[in-house]
Amino acid sequence: MTDTARNTMVEIRDLEKYYSSFKVLDGISGSVKKGEVIVICGPSGSGKSTMIRTINRLEEIDGGQIVVDGRDIHDRNYDINQLRSKIGFVFQQFNLFPHLSARDNVTLSPLKVAGMPAREASELAEHLLQKVGLSDKLDAMPASLSGGQQQRVAIARALAQNAPLMLFDEPTSALDPEMVGEVLTVIQQLAEEGQTMMIVTHEMGFAGKVADRIWFMDRGRILTQSPPGEFFNNPEHPRVQKFLSDML
Ligand code: ADP
Ligand code: MG
Repeated sequence: MTDTARNTMVEIRDLEKYYSSFKVLDGISGSVKKGEVIVICGPSGSGKSTMIRTINRLEEIDGGQIVVDGRDIHDRNYDINQLRSKIGFVFQQFNLFPHLSARDNVTLSPLKVAGMPAREASELAEHLLQKVGLSDKLDAMPASLSGGQQQRVAIARALAQNAPLMLFDEPTSALDPEMVGEVLTVIQQLAEEGQTMMIVTHEMGFAGKVADRIWFMDRGRILTQSPPGEFFNNPEHPRVQKFLSDML
């Protein structure tokens, strides 16, 4: 293995995907280094969700290749459960199990997938729920929690997989405005700890703080991949200039 390969978490090459005859991903290439935070932005309908969902095989692909941690993830011989254990996914809608407490949402994967002993899983859940600021909500049911609290449980649940890669698809866009900050603070803390992440978001202030690079998508392609300083202060591409001015 070369040094580049060893330091690479995700390598996407010429990714293509169709929804029937509509080409939703039109030749996407990009790589994510270990420890890097990539923010993905772009107009609605540009293919951000589809792209991020192909990375843990929630969507099949029609062309190209995606390598995560050295494995071709669309290889038919690669067990889907092994793949998913390497990737934590946080959705826009938190998708907690409604009949399980915060603690039990977090322990589920360690118990069932990783085969962790019950006491250890419970301690892990306490640690992770404390980390996301919910040590007083261990036994709360999802319906009794605010949206921001539920999303923080969902983040703790994803972290319990101890996955080398975390994916987020608009983690704050279903939240009331006053709850956005508490969720972004948790994600920013993960970034500071060196967690490798790919985050689809429209929160541009947050993007500027956490991103090592920003991928700008439009019509199924990545138009630019740039550090935030360049993206915000000196965007070369007219489509990026328009996107940023539309946001003001
Ligand atoms: P984004 O997340 O950037 O808003 P999406 O990846 O959700 O974009 O969607 C990209 C395009 O693909 C949109 O035109 C959307 O309508 C279309 N699309 C998304 N999901 C499906 C689907 N399951 N079947 C058909 N078209 C879809
Ligand atoms: Mg989307």
